[in-house]
This record gives sequence, C-alpha cells and structure tokens, in this order.
Amino acid sequence: MTDEIHVPGGHGRAFAAPAGARVTCIDVKGKQALDFVAFNAGDLTETLSGVETRRALMSLYIRAGSVLRSSRGRPMLALVEDTIGVHDYTIPACDDSRFAVDFAAPGHRNCLANMAGPLGAFGIGTPLAVPEPFNFFQNSPVVEDGRTAVVDPPSRPGERIVLECLMDVICAVSSCPQDIIPGNGLVPTEFRIFVEAKG
Ligand SMILES: [Zn+2]
Repeated sequence: MTDEIHVPGGHGRAFAAPAGARVTCIDVKGKQALDFVAFNAGDLTETLSGVETRRALMSLYIRAGSVLRSSRGRPMLALVEDTIGVHDYTIPACDDSRFAVDFAAPGHRNCLANMAGPLGAFGIGTPLAVPEPFNFFQNSPVVEDGRTAVVDPPSRPGERIVLECLMDVICAVSSCPQDIIPGNGLVPTEFRIFVEAKG
C-alpha cells in the first residue's frame, strides 16, 4: 500500500510510517530544500538526531547507504537511494525569530511552524518538541576556512531520495519557505512524498 502526500511549496506536512516502509521524497520542480524530522512512534522522546548521526558516520555528509541515528544512538532511518547527494544537517529549521531578527519579516512562513503545526495531530504539540532537522536537498557547503554557506540546491526537477524506516516513525517535513535569500531558488516549490509500506 502506498500513500501519497502533497507538500505545497512553502508548507509542511506530518505522517506516520511503519518499520520497513520506504519514504520517497521528490523535489518536483528542483532547487527546493526539504526540512525533515522524525520521532520514534512508540516513544516520542526519541528523535532523529544529526549529532548522533555525524558521530556514527564520522562524517559531515550523508549519502546512499548512510544509516541515520536517533537521539539515543539507535538506527532510525536508512538513506537507500539518493539522486542528488547534496544535503545538510548542520543548520536549524528557519523559524519566526530567524525571519523577525535577520530579515525584519515577522510572521513569515517558516519551517518550524510548518512542522510543529501538523505534528499536533500526533501529540507533538509545541515547537520546542521539534528536534533539529535534516535538511534534505539543502546546499550548505563547508567553504574556505571552515565557514559554511547556504546556496541554491543543484537539484533538477524530479530528483529524489528514498528512506527506509528502521522503526515505526512519525515524520514531519517542510518545503522551506525561505524566499528572501538563496536556498530554494527564491521561489518555494512543492514536494511529493510517497510512503510505501513493506509487502
Ligand atoms: Zn526553512
């Protein structure tokens, strides 16, 4: 059985996926970052963790075959297919204060609200409960002198990643609504998510 989830440009969604399911995320029009968080469906205090994943991989980069770890160091998701190979998990989700403080744009749509809102249906009711995301397709290269940058993703229309769930998970995603500086081609666009249960 396959569920399809449409994520309009600049908006977010949340969904459940059982262990063994494959979650395919398609950047329909290209150049779009997708913030992604996940929780253990059986214990919402265990979340997908960038810092644990970096420790386990001993790398700043994930690629096809990488296993993404939880906040308790357990395998949570595996990146099994990746047509782009450019992702970030060092930069937090954009939020209201980011737009208010850095761009004088309070009230701008933001990834944290995009994920926290839909997660309410799964009992995850506050933005503080949303962990730091993996930013799939986000292009945040480490540049000269160890500094970091955020530029537009190189993804072309239809590029995809496929994640395999290694436990029952609740996920949230946000098509990043940042349209003031590069990062999403200045025009946030849609994602399509397919959740395909095993068997
Ligand atoms: Zn964002």
